[in-house]
Amino acid sequence: MNVPWVNLTIQYQNIRTEINSAIQTILDNGDFILGQDVAKLEEEFAAYCGTKYAVGVDTGLSALELSLRALGVEPGHEVLVPTHTFTATAAAITLAGATPVFVDADPETCNIDPAKIEAAITPRTRAIIPVHLYGLPANMDKILRIAEKHNLVVVEDACQAHGARYNGHRAGSLGHAAGFSFYPTKNLGAYGDGGMVTTSDSKVAETIRALRNCGQREKNVHELIPFNHRLDNLQAAILRVKLRHLDEWIGLRRKWGALYTQLLAGSDLVLPVEPHGYEHVYHLYVVRSQQRDALMASLKERGIGTAIHYPKPVHLQPYYLNGADRRGEFPVAEKICNEIVSLPMFPELTEEQVETVSSEIMGLGVPMASGS
Ligand SMILES: *Cc1c(COP(=O)(O)O)cnc(C)c1O
Repeated sequence: MNVPWVNLTIQYQNIRTEINSAIQTILDNGDFILGQDVAKLEEEFAAYCGTKYAVGVDTGLSALELSLRALGVEPGHEVLVPTHTFTATAAAITLAGATPVFVDADPETCNIDPAKIEAAITPRTRAIIPVHLYGLPANMDKILRIAEKHNLVVVEDACQAHGARYNGHRAGSLGHAAGFSFYPTKNLGAYGDGGMVTTSDSKVAETIRALRNCGQREKNVHELIPFNHRLDNLQAAILRVKLRHLDEWIGLRRKWGALYTQLLAGSDLVLPVEPHGYEHVYHLYVVRSQQRDALMASLKERGIGTAIHYPKPVHLQPYYLNGADRRGEFPVAEKICNEIVSLPMFPELTEEQVETVSSEIMGLGVPMASGS
């Protein structure tokens, strides 16, 4: 049995009538730019996340960049960011003109290690971007306490965490602002690029509305830096249909996550954790093995797709290295990157597929002890 690590077309087939009719309506109305569906999606997504405002933008990257700008991050400022994340988290800081300062990962959750944040704070530090990586919220109590003590703003990178909860509150409602991505494979994915900022701060929302639309607060008055970071109305219409299904899809991801965890419990793999008070939405189901490459190769031979999110921490990416040798600077993140592998995870998996993947792994017989 072939099991791909992700499949986007089954979901489209399941909701094809709803999607096609939403697209047809836009084509018939010619309502393409900052149209009715963008405004409605913003209301619906804010309500879903439990924030006062949501502002649609073109990507998750610009959601994060514009959040930082609206919160006053400028050249000369430093922003703390986990090095174990997708490069876009740090890129948002760079694009806002500030300097990313990396922090190592927590070995258990793979998220930013709160115990290592304070040592990275300097008089120039202005903000922290915790990432809810793989769909598991970061340790927000500790992060918010540090932020308050040092007068920092907190922008959540919720690009992998639509619908995740932390002490009952949704990702996106935990910091001063949050950035979401609607990249097609995300838990709520468009059929192209898209993004959203959530916040309960009216000034932040208003500034981002201007920034995304050529710097205009008022038509033809280009007051702020004139970006174009608008969310397409066509994508917004598609996302409104999909938002109605999101909780059902998260339920399925959680079901497959729990089943993997149950079936792989006897293996030597390090499995994902879900600490008390955290609700993981399993954007990715990531296990760890010291024999990661052998494990991936064996699964590939058996028709099972896997992926690595991500093979290199951001501080070791060429752009951020700029010729320096920084190996060993963040040892936990570097170790994690050498051990992680993402197993097939999408709502439309079947119980049989999850059982097949798990039993193939259990039957491999390669020593996979992580030794950690
Ligand atoms: C996907 C993703 C982003 C960027 O989103 P885009 O919409 O592709 O710009 C940022 N951070 C994380 C953690 C992501 O997974």
